[in-house]
Amino acid sequence: MPTVGVIGGGQLARMMIPAAVNLGLELRVLAETAGESAAMAVTSIGSHTSLDDVLAFAETVDVVTFDHEHVPQEILRELVSRGIRVRPAPDALLYAQDKLLMREKLAEFGLPMPEWARIEKAADLDAFLADNGGRVVVKTARGGYDGKGVRVVSSAAEIEDWLALGEPLLAEELVEFQRELAQLVARRDSGELVAWPVVESIQRDGVCAEVIAPAPDSEGRVADVAAQIARTVAEGLGVTGVLAVELFQTTDQRLLINELAMRPHNTGHWTQDAAVTSQFEQHLRAVLDLPLGSTDARDTWAVMVNILGGPAEGSLADRYPHAFADQPAVKVHNYGKTPRPGRKVGHVNAYGPDLTETVVLARAAAAYFQEQNLG
Ligand code: ADP
Repeated sequence: MPTVGVIGGGQLARMMIPAAVNLGLELRVLAETAGESAAMAVTSIGSHTSLDDVLAFAETVDVVTFDHEHVPQEILRELVSRGIRVRPAPDALLYAQDKLLMREKLAEFGLPMPEWARIEKAADLDAFLADNGGRVVVKTARGGYDGKGVRVVSSAAEIEDWLALGEPLLAEELVEFQRELAQLVARRDSGELVAWPVVESIQRDGVCAEVIAPAPDSEGRVADVAAQIARTVAEGLGVTGVLAVELFQTTDQRLLINELAMRPHNTGHWTQDAAVTSQFEQHLRAVLDLPLGSTDARDTWAVMVNILGGPAEGSLADRYPHAFADQPAVKVHNYGKTPRPGRKVGHVNAYGPDLTETVVLARAAAAYFQEQNLG
C-alpha cells in the first residue's frame, strides 16, 4: 500500500489519520515536536525549514503533501529534482504561500478580486489609499494565518514596521461584504475535479468560528459562480488535492476571491460527518491520483462550530460526560491540544433537515467545551 507523508503535525494532518486507516494507507507525519496534534501517526521529528529533515522524511514515503503552506520553495524544488512526488506541486503551492503572487496570477485569469496593489514603499500605500476611500486592508504576502498579518489602516505610518522588513506587501480595498463564503474542490493529476457545496463561514476576530453548509440562499447563481471560480483556479494553477477558495459575497452581490489554501481547510470540516466523502479522505485520494469520492451532503444542512480556547482548567475530555449526554447527535472532534485563549482546540459537527435547529444543536454542544473567559 502507498505511504503518504504529511509535512506539519497540526490538526489537519491528524484528521487525515482516520481516513488513511479506513483506506489501509500508511500515513507518516513530519512534526516539529513529539507533542503535536498529529503525533498519533507514525511521526518523524524535524523542521519543515530544514532541507536535511525534509529530505530524510520524504525518502520514506511515496508522496509528500502538507498540513500547512510554510515549507520553503527551495526545499520543495529540491525534492522534485530528486524525483520525489510532491502534491500539490511547488508550482501550484506557490500561490497559496504568497498572497501577492496569488493576486498577480489570478488577475491573469481575469478572476474577480478586490481592488489590490503591490506596496513597496509608503508612497505606494498613499496612492492606493487616495483611490480607495482612505481606509484599506494591508497584508503581509507570506506567513499570515487566522488574521495575523492583516491590518486595516488609513495611513502608511501604521505599516512602518512591515515596510521596514523590506518585503513587498499587498494592499486591498476594504470590501463591503454581506458574508464570507468558501468553495472547496478537489482535483487529481488525471484532471478529475469535484466540488462540495459552497459554504458560509462566519469569522470572529479574523478566525473562523462557524460554518454553514450549504451557504443559505446560495442555490443557483451563487453556487454556480463559486464552483466555476474554484474550478478555474484549480485548473489554471494545476492544483492537486483539496483547494479552498475563500470568497467575499459583496453587498452588491459580487463574489470576490479573498484567499486560497491547498490542503484540507477549516471550512470543510463539516464534510467529516455530513458529506459522503470527507475532505481528508478526498485529499488522500487526490494526492495518490485515485478516483475521487462523492461530495454529496448526507442531509439538508450541516453546521460546524469551532471550539476556540477551550476549558480554563483540565481538558476537553473532562466535558464529555455532560456534552455527550446532552447532545448525542453531535459529533465532537478533539485535536488533542492544550487549551489556550483563542486557540483552535477542536470543533463539533451537527447536521439535520432544519437549519435553525442544527445551528442550535451545534452551538449548544460547542458551549460545553468553551470557557467564557477563554473564548
Ligand atoms: P488569513 O491568511 O489570516 O486568514 P485573510 O486574508 O483570510 O487572512 O483575512 C482574514 C480576514 O480578514 C478575512 O476572513 C476577512 O474577514 C477580513 N478581510 C481580509 N481581507 C479583507 C478585505 N480586502 N476587505 C475586508 N475584509 C477583509
